[in-house]
Amino acid sequence: MKLHPVFTAAFSASLLASVAPSAPSTGTPFTGNPPTATRPWAVHDQNRPQPKRIEPGTFSTPTQPGQPPSDAIVLFDGTEASLANWEMEPKNGKAGGPAKWILKDGAMECAAGTGVIRTKEHFGDCQLHVEWAAPAVVKGDSQGRGNSGIFLMGICEVQVLDSYHNPSYADGGANAVYAVSPPLANALRPPGEFQVVDIVFRRPIFKDSKLIEAGHVTVFCNGVIMQDGTPIIGENYNQVGWIPKVFPETGPLKFQDHGNPVRFRNIWYRPLPPRPIDGGTDGDLTAEATTAKRKEIAATVRADAAKLAANSTAQMLRLAESLVYENDPATNTTVEQLATAYAGGLKSLDSTALEAKKSEILSVTRAFHYLAKWTIVPATFGPKVALEQLAEKSGWNLPRK
Ligand code: MG
Repeated sequence: MKLHPVFTAAFSASLLASVAPSAPSTGTPFTGNPPTATRPWAVHDQNRPQPKRIEPGTFSTPTQPGQPPSDAIVLFDGTEASLANWEMEPKNGKAGGPAKWILKDGAMECAAGTGVIRTKEHFGDCQLHVEWAAPAVVKGDSQGRGNSGIFLMGICEVQVLDSYHNPSYADGGANAVYAVSPPLANALRPPGEFQVVDIVFRRPIFKDSKLIEAGHVTVFCNGVIMQDGTPIIGENYNQVGWIPKVFPETGPLKFQDHGNPVRFRNIWYRPLPPRPIDGGTDGDLTAEATTAKRKEIAATVRADAAKLAANSTAQMLRLAESLVYENDPATNTTVEQLATAYAGGLKSLDSTALEAKKSEILSVTRAFHYLAKWTIVPATFGPKVALEQLAEKSGWNLPRK
């Protein structure tokens, strides 16, 4: 391909730009506060794993169910195959058997008198999506109109009720944590239309039958917040409120048969990671766990450094970076040797050659400044002092104090 002279010139300029000296790339930018005794990652730590990529779903409309996000576990999508994920609740010691609710127009409808339907799968802390519609033909009033319930782990009921111009006691309205916490608002669509409910559920955690951390539930209905981290400490029960109940780790999702033909569609969940009290690893860790994690990160960074050109500036910086997590004596010595050689090598350069390496020298100076500022190396670290003097002599901007 022959390029027009103007394009050739532009092309050459971009090539030149791409080979111009630039700051060596390192994982940690040597800027954010370093790890602590209970947090293994620095602030803005580029060694910290990226969140997993998922494809978002699409929003539902009153007439059309949306698509779940790509990693959702689909419990019911309107097909007969997905209704097989459900079964009737056992009664009087007898298995409940296959789902008896009615599959109709992409929804499952409560067949009055068949009983509670539940998932075969048991799960705990989750983001849950449920859509439900009260019967289009309005019958009954108060608790007798379009009543069902979303029972998280089969225990905690988030109320389903046709509360559209249908007053009842507030702690029993749609999206109440039944008998405990009224919803923050009533944003229901008319009966016959689907309500879109999104729930964040954390179960209460028990040890030796004692509550050691309350659960909580957050509920959105049609995009409006209904429950804002409402605590869960037991089973919420008609006429009583909380009754003591030791939650297991998982349980089935249940929908109530309250005698009304309420329909459900587009039901999926995404498990939530465990909380620290439950063996989770996010946020603050114990001192022991933090030390172990920091050693692990340091080892990974050192292994990465080993793949870089021997004794290169990039390798020196990557090794220096590992010291942020673990001040391994052997690595510390290697870094000091490489850094001393680096600073010494600059002495033979004239001002033009120094100017050409300015960006790299400043980034190395900033790295050493960072290490000294956080006492990872002594403030008197020779190469740091030498580079700062060089920068000052050259009239360059020194790192922020
Ligand atoms: Mg109910």
